[in-house]
Amino acid sequence: MSQIAFAEDVFTWPADEPQLIGSRCEQCAAHTFPSQGSCPRCGSLEMARHLLPRQGTLWTFTTQGFLPKEPYLGGETNETFQPFGVGLVQLGDEIRVEARLTEADPEQLRIGMEVRLVIVPFRSDPDGTEIMTFAFEPVG
Ligand SMILES: [Zn+2]
Repeated sequence: MSQIAFAEDVFTWPADEPQLIGSRCEQCAAHTFPSQGSCPRCGSLEMARHLLPRQGTLWTFTTQGFLPKEPYLGGETNETFQPFGVGLVQLGDEIRVEARLTEADPEQLRIGMEVRLVIVPFRSDPDGTEIMTFAFEPVG
């Protein structure tokens, strides 16, 4: 079965230890994710590619309990939709990233827990190709 990333240059993949690809401003050290061509803080165009830490802490979370509105490319219907967790993950001192969580049960999640980046199937194309996206899973 073939697998492709949902977008170019969002995460390093295939990789044993995938990382999100962000950018870092050479002038003021602001970080962005996804990477940007200009700094949102100071406007500098000197943005360097910067791989974000793979592991971080869950800053806050919620559960997406219904099918998101358009544009949503997950391919589910109201009948097939499964709730999923969404978290804000603090990666180092650098940045907070919004991402899917592999765990949807709020009982299994808590603020401050360690989470790690994983690459997971998002949906399948009609030809069977799996479209891969990133998510964070609880560590341990
Ligand atoms: Zn800057």
